[in-house]
Amino acid sequence: MTTRRDFIKTSAFASAALLVSNSDANSLVKEVMLKKDSVKPIVLSTWNFGLKANEAAWQVLSNNGNALDAVEAGVKIPEGDPTERSVGYGGRPDRDGRVTLDACIMDENANIGSVACLEFIKHPISVARAVMEKTPHVMLVGDGALQFALSQGFMKENLLVEDSEKEWKEWLKTSNYKPIVNIENHDTIGMIAMDAAGNLSGACTTSGMAYKMHGRVGDSPIIGAGLYVDNEIGAATATGHGEEVIRIAGCHLVVELMRQGNSPDQACRIAVDRVVKLTANRKKNLKDIQVGFIALNKNGEYGSYCVQSGFNYAVHDNTGNRLINAEFHLKV
Ligand code: ASP
Repeated sequence: MTTRRDFIKTSAFASAALLVSNSDANSLVKEVMLKKDSVKPIVLSTWNFGLKANEAAWQVLSNNGNALDAVEAGVKIPEGDPTERSVGYGGRPDRDGRVTLDACIMDENANIGSVACLEFIKHPISVARAVMEKTPHVMLVGDGALQFALSQGFMKENLLVEDSEKEWKEWLKTSNYKPIVNIENHDTIGMIAMDAAGNLSGACTTSGMAYKMHGRVGDSPIIGAGLYVDNEIGAATATGHGEEVIRIAGCHLVVELMRQGNSPDQACRIAVDRVVKLTANRKKNLKDIQVGFIALNKNGEYGSYCVQSGFNYAVHDNTGNRLINAEFHLKV
């Protein structure tokens, strides 16, 4: 039943809409509907260690913090955890026994910062942010990245933990480079978030593929490959075999597919289809490849897709924090 109060409210809304043009009225209605269904803030991150990382990001987001601070705080959790053996401190080394880290960060204004093949620094994501905020450049690598980090007060530390060293020595006996798909169910952490103000940011950080050649850089520190954010459209991040993600400029592709009207799920699926097609064209075995994307659009809708089973991601919004199994292409 419409009460007198409702009627006055509705009439006031209707007259306001009459005063403006039809298209303005439509966007007004859309805005009201969007507010009603608002899912802000929200944060997504790759793999099961994303659950803990999301908690840290949520601390920032739920206190009206911005998405950039949230994603940095979030990914620092696995970076600093020596038991997480694929990111930051404790990460597996390259074939020379050196732990080399890749990371990048991107905010709502397309500010970007990145480091690649960085050694001895526990939180490469914060160095990437410093590259973004304190240099005229967007990417620093190797010794240059290390020198910059030290100049900014970051501490030089040994990142090779005992377990990783032991495994590497074992690996040296065969020295067979064959990346394991879904290693221990966590690889790179990629995190994308929308804050209460509706702004998007993302961060991505990894120790890369274990036993890679020294100097190898994956997709994770490459803006457009391992991470992309467009504040008008949405954000995406990737995990898995970096060479395959770079080959299709993965995350930029996912965001552009969302711009064309695809849902986050569809966009991730189309990008994975492209990986699948190129793998076949190149006569490589898809079973040896994993690539997973997660994506978030400006309406707070999210989704994912990957090459083969086993990839999952964590989502935290106002309803809580949960792990979701991504749909996958390879059904056999
Ligand atoms: N994408 C990362 C890389 O290629 C590794 C991963 O996510 O598993 O370095």
